[in-house]
Amino acid sequence: MSNQVSVSLQNAMMYKRMETMATTDGLTGLTNHRTFQERFENLLERSGRFDHSAAVLLCDIDFFKSVNDTHGHPVGDEVLRRVAKVLQNAVRKIDITARYGGEEFAVVLESTDLEGAMKLAERIRMDVAALSIESEEGNFHVAMSIGVAVFPEDSKDRALLIERADNALYYAKENGRNQVVSYQQFAANRHRRKAS
Ligand code: GH3
Ligand code: MG
Ligand code: MG
Repeated sequence: MSNQVSVSLQNAMMYKRMETMATTDGLTGLTNHRTFQERFENLLERSGRFDHSAAVLLCDIDFFKSVNDTHGHPVGDEVLRRVAKVLQNAVRKIDITARYGGEEFAVVLESTDLEGAMKLAERIRMDVAALSIESEEGNFHVAMSIGVAVFPEDSKDRALLIERADNALYYAKENGRNQVVSYQQFAANRHRRKAS
């Protein structure tokens, strides 16, 4: 009897481990890209049903290639893990924190409007800038650019929300990096030529 219990417990633990492996990114422990898209879709569906707002943040580390080039790939990996922790500490349990791509992260905030999303994004930006990363060449800092789009104002569609957050992120990169830009700000300024 106790043997049977132990076997089914082992199966349950094994199943749980496999589920975690399938849904999370191995390096950072954040939600992986595929699961992110699923959870984001569900969250938007819920938001629409309950008439709640939501926000998506696309975050991209600035000049990350030069971190790898200067300090080596393992130190680059450590930067990704530290940035992931900043994101996890900044959000609530109901929010989604994902590794979107190589050095790109996505955060979805439930029941959050543009003002709240901009505040949180700014806090994330500052917390990342405050990280001190150790390397053989001495401690160094990294910066992050963030693009923000909100549901339902910017779009109700998942793919279009991501595209609009990406537009804002690209604008942040083009205009000096290490800053947060909303889709609204991007849309209001896109006719202007890049300063410099
Ligand atoms: P920008 O400020 O415009 O974002 O410049 P960037 O250098 O950050 O952007 P770019 O897309 O040119 O470089 C991204 C780099 O991220 C290139 C790639 O080697 C590195 N990268 C992607 N995934 C990983 C990873 O898992 N670990 C490490 N160490 N590096 C990674
Ligand atoms: Mg980058
Ligand atoms: Mg990138």
